[in-house]
Amino acid sequence: MRLILLGPPGAGKGTQAQRLVQRHGIVQLSTGDMLRAAIAANTPIGQKAKDIMARGALVPDDVVVGIISERMDKPDAKNGFVLDGFPRTVAQAEALNRLLKEKNLNLDAVIELRVDEDALLSRIERRIAEMKARGETVRADDNADALKIRLDAYRAQTAPLITYYGQKGALKTVDGMAGIDEVTAAINAALAAPDSSVGRQNTARA
Ligand code: ADP
Repeated sequence: MRLILLGPPGAGKGTQAQRLVQRHGIVQLSTGDMLRAAIAANTPIGQKAKDIMARGALVPDDVVVGIISERMDKPDAKNGFVLDGFPRTVAQAEALNRLLKEKNLNLDAVIELRVDEDALLSRIERRIAEMKARGETVRADDNADALKIRLDAYRAQTAPLITYYGQKGALKTVDGMAGIDEVTAAINAALAAPDSSVGRQNTARA
């Protein structure tokens, strides 16, 4: 099973990705987590991404495409993956198409978590409060200024992917405003529904 989770910051992608991991025995490929790990390890990619991410802007496409491509080749991704936070631009989606083709892989579905804009800020504020309560370090980009930039980046650069994947026929939209379990159930139902998968007709299966 190979999936993309699409939705704005605070939509619940991370939570639902974890459930898909459990259910399907696949791995979660979160570019945000990978970049944060690169920053923590002070790698060249981390050094490049650090200030951009703290600001709330998007890191260059070639950087994320590179890390995603390498990660997909790891043995634990053999059984499939759920992409969380990637692709985030049409150029990244096109790069992903090329990668999948090269690796002879298909995408099974793109799941959009649709949420009201108004809910996002309060969800992220709650996440910050919960992290603080657990004594965890709050993300550098979980502050009002960076959040505004992240939401603007989503609207301008990522939301067009909804139309992009809609035209390819594999978009499944789920109401992300429902409770966590209800959202999970809606995703499971959407994945069980028969339809065409992205590029299935173009790529031979081994
Ligand atoms: P959120 O969805 O809450 O914004 P993420 O962890 O997915 O959180 O992303 C955090 C930041 O990491 C983004 O604001 C951006 O700077 C960087 N990032 C993550 N994924 C990508 C990507 N695919 N392309 C460019 N930048 C990315």
